[in-house]
Amino acid sequence: MRYGFDSARKGHWKAKELEEAISKRMQSKYAQLVSSGTAALTVALVSAGVGAGDEVIMPTFTFVASFESILAIGAIPILVDVDETLTLNPSSVEKAITKNTKVVMPVHMCGSMADLKALKTICEKYNLILLEDACQAIGGSFEGKPLGSYGDLGCFSFDYVKTITCGEGGALITNNLEYYKNADHYSDHGHDHVGNNRGAETHPFLGYNFRISELNAAVGCAQIRRLDEFLEIQENNYNILYKALSDVDGISFRRIPKGGIQNYSFLNFFLPTEVLTRRAHKALGDGGVDACFYWYDNNWHYYRKWEHLINLTSLGKLPDDINKNMPDYSKSDFSESDKWISMDHFQSN
Ligand SMILES: *Cc1c(COP(=O)(O)O)cnc(C)c1O
Repeated sequence: MRYGFDSARKGHWKAKELEEAISKRMQSKYAQLVSSGTAALTVALVSAGVGAGDEVIMPTFTFVASFESILAIGAIPILVDVDETLTLNPSSVEKAITKNTKVVMPVHMCGSMADLKALKTICEKYNLILLEDACQAIGGSFEGKPLGSYGDLGCFSFDYVKTITCGEGGALITNNLEYYKNADHYSDHGHDHVGNNRGAETHPFLGYNFRISELNAAVGCAQIRRLDEFLEIQENNYNILYKALSDVDGISFRRIPKGGIQNYSFLNFFLPTEVLTRRAHKALGDGGVDACFYWYDNNWHYYRKWEHLINLTSLGKLPDDINKNMPDYSKSDFSESDKWISMDHFQSN
């Protein structure tokens, strides 16, 4: 248990220790640990005052956690095209803004970042919250700032496949004291954490339980000390592959926004046509390279296979705000995203 039991714990505060390490490494005033990256996104949205019926702009290429965290609070996921950065296209974002838009949620997919400067300018112009999903790019930076710390809020995942892990866990970072306090209370049933008698604490607003456990946090304390070592290994491997692939005719690479440094967790490349891509992907698989993804066909990371979202297939009845206001994604045109994700771009131009 990360709170209370002050005498029994004999001075061990693993979650607090990890929060301090995260806020220091990420150059942010505050960090709040939670039970997963998905929980971090939900808690970040709630902490910034987002609720039922509010619209959150997110990319067509991301993990399902993006829309799950939005739907969980009755808000509406507004899918927007990605460009050659494989992240949100800023001009498509601006076109998607309505009077209900509250948040722009770029996802720094596969180790590299969104066009954060352009997105921040848009958010300032329309008074929107910029929430960075940095779950796949922890340790990368933009204009010298750690990814996650450039926007109003940033989220990380420490699940078992991320650059650093707690087994399961997540965190949000922010420089906004109000957002931080909200996250601290909301993720622990609304506890205000004043004093050291848990039972006597008050609950200024409704909360939920998104706490991380001390056991998971203890693993994270050991992992964050090794973050920079892991980043160096990733960068070295990336450079070997990058150099080899650069010599192959027809291969090109995603655009890295100016001022950005990747965390090198993935190497992304384009081939000239869909047909060639499918053939190369199969050949790599047959040759034993099983960590090479053709994202266009992926069940979890591209809108094309999100039929449960498109059809709003849920166990129980969804909130009216969602039923009434959800765009009909079966009729949406995301051909701009398809061009890049299917890699039919060069053929069709
Ligand atoms: C892993 C991931 C998440 C969710 O993290 P969990 O800890 O698995 O809940 C959210 N967004 C992105 C981009 C991710 O890769």
